[in-house]
Amino acid sequence: MEALENIEARNENKISDNFFLKPSIERSYKLKWTKFKNALNIYKIIYTKTGSVWQSFQVFKKLLGLHKKVWGKLPEKWVSAGKKKYFMLYAPGFPSNQLNRMYEMEVNKLLQFNNPHELRFAFFAITKKCPLSCEHCFEWDKLHSKELLSLKDLRFAVLKLKEMNIVQLHLSGGEPMLRVNDIVKLAEEFSNDMEFYVLTSGFNATRGNVKLLKDAGVTGLVVSIDHYDKNIHNSFRGSSKSFDDAVNAVRYAREFDMFVTVSVCVSRALASFNELYNYACFVKNLGASFIQLLEPKNVGRYANKNVKLSDEQIELLCDFYYRMNFESAFSKFPIVVYHGYYQKQIGCFSAGNRSVYIDTNGDVLLCPFCHHKSGNLLTENIENIVPMMRQTGCPSYGISKI
Ligand code: SF4
Repeated sequence: MEALENIEARNENKISDNFFLKPSIERSYKLKWTKFKNALNIYKIIYTKTGSVWQSFQVFKKLLGLHKKVWGKLPEKWVSAGKKKYFMLYAPGFPSNQLNRMYEMEVNKLLQFNNPHELRFAFFAITKKCPLSCEHCFEWDKLHSKELLSLKDLRFAVLKLKEMNIVQLHLSGGEPMLRVNDIVKLAEEFSNDMEFYVLTSGFNATRGNVKLLKDAGVTGLVVSIDHYDKNIHNSFRGSSKSFDDAVNAVRYAREFDMFVTVSVCVSRALASFNELYNYACFVKNLGASFIQLLEPKNVGRYANKNVKLSDEQIELLCDFYYRMNFESAFSKFPIVVYHGYYQKQIGCFSAGNRSVYIDTNGDVLLCPFCHHKSGNLLTENIENIVPMMRQTGCPSYGISKI
C-alpha cells in the first residue's frame, strides 16, 4: 500500500485556487473545553429528571456506554460552524435547545419513560423534479411525475413533524434546491424548532441561493460528491456540470460558515483504503466537516443491479470509519459517518425508531432506501403510523432495541 503521506501530499498539490477554505476541526484546547461543557450539560439534563446525584451519574455512564456501543468510541473530533460545535451529522449543534431535546429523548429512553410519539429526525423529499440522471438514484421511479406537494402541504407536514418533537429535518428530493424559495419560507418559520439541512447535488446552489438559506436559518448542506475525479463524478451523475456545482455549493456554504457534509455513494471501485483516503484528502481540502459513506442499495435505479458491496468491502468501510475518527494520524480530517458500522450489531435507527422518510407523495416510508409505506402524513395521523412502522421494522437489519 502506498504511504499515506505521499497520497496526502499529492492531493495537496492538486489544490487549486478553488480550494481555499479554512479547516473547521476544533483545536485541542478548545476541544477539551467544548467536551467538558457538553458533558456538564448532559449531566444537568439527567439531574433535572432524576433529582438524584448518584442516579444521574449512573444514567450518564449508561448514556456514554450506549454511544460507545453504537459508534465504537466517544467522539474525539468536533467541528465548528456558525456559532455552534458539532460531533455528529445527526446530532444538533452545541449549544442549542434542539441538542438538549435530543439528549432528553435519549435519557427518557434509558429511564423507560419515553414518549412513544417522539421522533429524533426526518428526511423529507420535497420535489419530484431533478435535472440529473444519477446512476444510483433511489427516487428514480417517481422523478418527473406530477408534483403533488404544494407549499401548504409542505408546511402542514413540517407542523406534524414538529408535533413529533423532531430536532432535525433533512430536505431531499429530487433536487430540493429547485424549491429554494419554499425551503426559505419553511426555515424562516420552523428553524427555531428544528435544524434544517438541505441534501443537494449542488444544482441551483448558487452563492445567492445559499446565502438565502443561511439567512433563513438553514443549518447546513449535505452535498453529494461521488468521486474526487471530476469526470467520474460527472459521468455517474449524467451531467458535465455536476462536479463544479457540487464543489461550489460546498464553497459557498463554508463561506457563510454553514455546516457542510459531503456524502458519497461508495462504489466498488472506491471501496479500497487508498481510494477512500484519496477521497478524504479531497474533502478535507474542500473544507467540509463531515464525510457520509453510503452503500449502493438495490432500490430505484439500482433495483436488480449487481452493485452491492461485498462483506470484505463493508468491513473495509468500517475500518476506514474507525481509523479516520479515532487515529491521531487523521485528527485533522473530516469526521466520517457510516451507518453500516453499527447496523448489523445494533439494528436500524430509522423505521420509526428515531427517524422516518417522507417521500414526494407525503407517504411515510421506513427510510430513504427501504420504501415500505406505512401511511400518509397528509391524510393520516402520524401518531398512529409510527408505532405501526416500528412493528414492521427494518427488513435488512431489524429495528434497534436501543
Ligand atoms: S440521486 Fe438525487 S440528484 Fe441524482 S437524479 Fe436522483 S434525485 Fe436527482
